[in-house]
Amino acid sequence: MKTTVYGYPKIGPNRELKKVVESYWKKEISKEELWEKTQEINLNRVKKIKESGIDIIPSNDFSLYDFVLDVATMFNVIPERFKKIEDSLDRYFAMARGSDDAIACEMTKWFDTNYHYIVPELAGDIKLVKNRPLESYRSIKQALGIETKPVIVGPFTFVYLSKVYQRQEGSILMQMVKAPESEKFEQFLDLFANLYNQVLKELKAEGVKAVQLDEPAFVLDLSEKEVNLALKTYEKLVEGLDGLDIFVQTYYESLSAYDRLINLPVKGIGLDFVSNNENFENIKKYGFPKDKILVAGVVSGRDPWKTDLQSTANFIKSLTDYIPAENIILSNAAPLFHLPVSLAPEVGHLSEDLINLLSFADERLLELKTLKEHFTEGKELPAQNLQDIRDKYKNEEVRKLVDNYKNKEVSRPTPFKERYKKQMDILKLPLFPTTTIGSFPQTQEVRKTRADYKAGRITEEQYKEFIRKQIQNVIKIQEELDIDVLVHGEFERTDMVEFFGEKLEGFAFTKNGWVQSYGTRCVRPPIIYGDVSRPNPMTVEEITYAQSLTNRPVKGMLTGPVTILNWSFYRKDIPKEDIAYQIALALREEVEDLEKAGIKIIQIDEPAFREGLPLKKNKQQHYLNWAVKAFKLSHNTVKDETQIHTHMCYSEFNEIIEYIYKMDADVISIEASRSKGEILQAFENFKYDHAIGIGVYDIHSPRVPREEEIEEILRRSLRYIDKELIWVNPDCGLKTRGWDETIKSLKNMVNVAKKLRKEYT
Ligand code: GLN
Ligand code: ZN
Repeated sequence: MKTTVYGYPKIGPNRELKKVVESYWKKEISKEELWEKTQEINLNRVKKIKESGIDIIPSNDFSLYDFVLDVATMFNVIPERFKKIEDSLDRYFAMARGSDDAIACEMTKWFDTNYHYIVPELAGDIKLVKNRPLESYRSIKQALGIETKPVIVGPFTFVYLSKVYQRQEGSILMQMVKAPESEKFEQFLDLFANLYNQVLKELKAEGVKAVQLDEPAFVLDLSEKEVNLALKTYEKLVEGLDGLDIFVQTYYESLSAYDRLINLPVKGIGLDFVSNNENFENIKKYGFPKDKILVAGVVSGRDPWKTDLQSTANFIKSLTDYIPAENIILSNAAPLFHLPVSLAPEVGHLSEDLINLLSFADERLLELKTLKEHFTEGKELPAQNLQDIRDKYKNEEVRKLVDNYKNKEVSRPTPFKERYKKQMDILKLPLFPTTTIGSFPQTQEVRKTRADYKAGRITEEQYKEFIRKQIQNVIKIQEELDIDVLVHGEFERTDMVEFFGEKLEGFAFTKNGWVQSYGTRCVRPPIIYGDVSRPNPMTVEEITYAQSLTNRPVKGMLTGPVTILNWSFYRKDIPKEDIAYQIALALREEVEDLEKAGIKIIQIDEPAFREGLPLKKNKQQHYLNWAVKAFKLSHNTVKDETQIHTHMCYSEFNEIIEYIYKMDADVISIEASRSKGEILQAFENFKYDHAIGIGVYDIHSPRVPREEEIEEILRRSLRYIDKELIWVNPDCGLKTRGWDETIKSLKNMVNVAKKLRKEYT
């Protein structure tokens, strides 16, 4: 029995990678310095893994920006618009971030994680131009004398996640389509099978003993045809490679079409045994090939919880009933980059109990070593008291409440139509009411003052006075712009999840628990470790203050339960839906307090609603059902007269529109200007008869939208949606924008609303 790991964080213990790369972008350091410093970060990772006693050390798992972009550029997959940039490194970064005259490649979520990759655009002269795995293997061997196993995203997954230029049906226009939907899918798989074969031959010639091809796409619901193509791709890929051990690694879910894909012509297959027990069930049912190695993912790469060593050891023992121990390699069950680097900086910051419950990437290395030595040397496992600690975080009252709601319907008693009428009678809003999504520009001054307050450089009273000034200002501006439904601007919030997490019981925040989200951007997800409750009101003070300044309605502004959950690390000892209900009930207390304080409209944002969608189709409906219910539970006790809004952005709604409707919000505002009306298509087939504000301009760019553009989106909405139900708002919050463009853009927005109002009243 041996150990290996993959996907160890690239960012460095103190986000060194971010600092180095960003200073290269700012031209503060040269290309040579960038190379030297990033090489050092990488070598430190390798040393760390080696010193932790892991047997098989990976290479080529480091990247300056994104590992998918690494593969694309090694095969010359470079869109035409970047070809004139001669320097290959600058071109690499330009593809990720855009340049003066070329828009960046699309970036999208990597499977169901919060990592984002750069989507390859397959076109042009595709060929091997840079054997990155070979370079990485060599440089580590040279610097440290360590033999490594190069890791590359596998050909099937790479092509599967790419897009292809294709002529639109019956048109001369070219369009980007997802590779599996393109007629050229098979052709590209064939091409890349050959190219990977070439890469591997060069590795073999170098003396490399083993490589790992990551194929997480093998856990998706593949069609019969796709499974056949996968097998065919690998048959071609392995030609002439006898003597080189190829390992195919899968993760995030159980292997699809197990009985067929398990027979890929390779030395070993890696399976995830942490996400669920399906892989093990399949081993029991179909067996595991005698001539193959199993890389058994037994410690989590996605959740920060300590591995229960005893029960994991028991599991490994039961694996050996089916597979000889010498054919098993222990590993993590998903890439470790979803975890922070190390728990060490949190000691003394988080409570001792919580520290004893957690395990980040470094701690995973030790867990693997401990498990292996238990089997190979008979070493005893250290005692753990995980359940005792968890029990301390139990809140019986909350548990009981959740149990009570689990089998209960939580809809608002009165149907939308009736509610909406009552609401609009009180609110007295014009046709096409205008509003914004919540945040207004967070200037340098706002951010600095918040930081000063957190660091104790200014008093609470000084800080509150500052926030009140900001609110006064933003209310005045919105009145001058003649916006109908106002917001308080969210100046007191750094982040929409962190703000609530800090005020709720059951959440913890790390000091240094950074995780890569994309490129140099890192986030520090909150950790939900205990039962959730709300000790005190969270937003009532600011919202009621804002409302006291104006006669127009001010929206209460909350982050929804599903979004808070999906953007956090959450506990695994109770069902995910129970955590959602706990958060929903805490938020509901806030909703009730806002209502009591006279707030007539409350917005509960759910931009991450879709992000928790399971990869396997047969699990999606269950998720959507409880997510809808959690949203409803966050406010089901309000009066008919209280209007509930929600907001969602940048997701593909079309496939879940039915569930969005079931959320039964009175008004929803959604992103549309970037998805170019794709959203509107959803309404062609689905009659949406609640109120809706289709985002009329893109807030991600400082560009001021012209009135005609705004008008066009509204007129298109009018084709599918009843005029009485249409609201007018931007795409998303304005926090990253400057004041100047914000005011100009909103002015245009209000003008258009007024113009159409005249026409339609
Ligand atoms: N209310 C939030 C804001 O305006 C919503 C942010 C989001 O959708 N991500 O900033
Ligand atoms: Zn948004």
